[in-house]
Amino acid sequence: MSFNREAEAAYFRPGGAMEQHIKQYRRRDEQVKMAEAVADAFANREFLVAEVGTGVGKSFAYLVPAILWTLESGEKVVVSTRTRALQEQLTEHDIPDLKYILGSGYSVAEAKGRENYLCWNQYMSILAGKQKLDDEQERFITAVLSWAESTESGDRKELGLPGELMRHWGLLAANRRSCARELCPYREKCFRLKMLKRLEKADLLIVNHSLLLSDLLVDNSILPEYHYLIIDEAHTFERESFDKLSAVFSLEECRDILRLLYSKERRHERGYLQYLKGRYPNLMAALNELSTMVYRCGEYLEACFAAIKAVKVRDDHARVLEHQDFQSRWFAELIDNYTGWQHLMNLLIHRLAELKAELNGMEEEVEINAVIQLLREGSENAFMVMEESPDRPDTLCWVEFQDGQPVRLSSSSIRIGELLHQRLFSKLESLVMVSATLTIEDSFSYFIEKNGLNCLDDRDRVQTLLQYSPFEYDKQALLLSLYDMPDPTSAGFPKAVANALKDILTVTQGRTMVLFTSRKELRQASKDLRDWADEQGLCLLVQGEDGEFKRLMELFIEAPNTVLMGLETFWEGVDLKGEVLQTLVMVRLPFRSPADPFCSAGDRYFRLQRRSSFQGFMLPDAAVRFKQGAGRLIRSESDRGLLIVLDARLANRSYGRVFKNSIPIKKVVSLKRAELPAFLAGTGTAYLTPS
Ligand code: SF4
Repeated sequence: MSFNREAEAAYFRPGGAMEQHIKQYRRRDEQVKMAEAVADAFANREFLVAEVGTGVGKSFAYLVPAILWTLESGEKVVVSTRTRALQEQLTEHDIPDLKYILGSGYSVAEAKGRENYLCWNQYMSILAGKQKLDDEQERFITAVLSWAESTESGDRKELGLPGELMRHWGLLAANRRSCARELCPYREKCFRLKMLKRLEKADLLIVNHSLLLSDLLVDNSILPEYHYLIIDEAHTFERESFDKLSAVFSLEECRDILRLLYSKERRHERGYLQYLKGRYPNLMAALNELSTMVYRCGEYLEACFAAIKAVKVRDDHARVLEHQDFQSRWFAELIDNYTGWQHLMNLLIHRLAELKAELNGMEEEVEINAVIQLLREGSENAFMVMEESPDRPDTLCWVEFQDGQPVRLSSSSIRIGELLHQRLFSKLESLVMVSATLTIEDSFSYFIEKNGLNCLDDRDRVQTLLQYSPFEYDKQALLLSLYDMPDPTSAGFPKAVANALKDILTVTQGRTMVLFTSRKELRQASKDLRDWADEQGLCLLVQGEDGEFKRLMELFIEAPNTVLMGLETFWEGVDLKGEVLQTLVMVRLPFRSPADPFCSAGDRYFRLQRRSSFQGFMLPDAAVRFKQGAGRLIRSESDRGLLIVLDARLANRSYGRVFKNSIPIKKVVSLKRAELPAFLAGTGTAYLTPS
């Protein structure tokens, strides 16, 4: 089997192998063009950025050339998707389908985060009765016993247990904090280590973005060496990189590690050191000294976060620190306590290492080693936040709050693209980044810059491909924009939203999804609509009130008279074909909140270069999210639907054009709010039933 355009095209040609062997396969010219572009990118050491619209079939368009390339060159190809569900779509459906066509002369391995795999050490310690379990946990362990003894992968996806039992998966899951690493007595049987070995041998590696980025954090010690990478759902990659590559000093994580060792409430002492005192009375003096050290470490830690309480936050959950914060009294107090904490942490690690040497060959050696690793990680993470110049212009530092209390102090470079270039892209021979939503008004420049692809020495290596969706949007969908709604920042907006939704739902009678950008507005709309919806015989499903994503989706699919109202997850994670979703309402244009650290990072990145952060970041970022949201409506060629935007800025502001030009729905009607009911009952109904 040889790797060239002609050979590849033969698979996709009308009546070719793809059509012959894959059920429901639909040949698309757009798909063939993308497959050719991927093949060219691999052969010519190029970096391909490809936007292909919904319905093109992008996974086959990159899998076929990827497999042909690995067969021809012997090089590993890594495919990274955004979620585990997408990973499973590739490994359980698309790749098995291709085996009929491309043979089986290549091996495929799937890699996920360690929390997906059963940990033998945990499992054996539970079977040995070392952990006290409640009745439900007992039921969970009983339910997994025969699977645990027979599974070859140890992957939780094989279990298929109901959600209420899977809640207890954490009891058995491999865990970075508790892993005994090289001292683990079950290393030979460890499912995670077996998975890593499979990766070494595999030609095609299916991973997710989170794991791909974790690998960068640990100096590429998870994945084997690779030079060919495909990033699917690439529109989220920069955001995920920002979250994953940030350094975090976490109160909860550090507190948990210390409490694992020792805690004292009133006169009650607990923790691992207490256990050791009972087992090794001869080491009592050293263990007492360690207990005191842990206790004082805990005091310093609490004092660090008590100092941060001086930071004022409104309803947002994060606050970015500014230059004046670093000069403030509270920050000086934080530094004092942090210095004391870090000093004691180092001493503690040193003393525990001595204790470990003392217990050489005993079973506790493994456990002490695991604790030392955890303490080191906690100390190093805090060091990165506190001591790697948080007050530099190109570093963003922020505090996160929970229930009004500071719980995490984080920092990140604002130049995520440069970081990605240095740590990942510069090591590759070829890269493919693909998604249905990368361009703004058909331009890739925003994506290329933000993802650091403009840092390549040879810019000609970056190629772009834009293939529109094959769906007939002019016949299938209509965008309705209401130009006289109150300004979204005005006091009258929530009431106007509730009234508009009532008019819309009176006509649609369900099959409607409403996308919000603010939790507060979502709650208010729920309050305004709940009783009214009951009276109308409509079932109102609200994220956070009536269940979370999976359950809400099940309920939405089951009943036609349903209205689903949700936040960010629903802007992206919904793929409903057919008549299930007919009306999509966007309450506001999805500009990010300035309190979101990712937003502050983008804003500062452009301001530092004396460029408009609105034009450079806020607007294109919102346009991509708008495009993602709009993409929920039409998922197959028989779908029809209405997209209604309640934010008048779409019609009235000059930048509204950027949003409209970025989506495939080109038929746009601007209406007065008062005209909405009549329009929906007339022209609008043509879009409310599938053809
Ligand atoms: S190596 Fe770590 S994850 Fe694997 S079985 Fe041992 S403790 Fe569990």
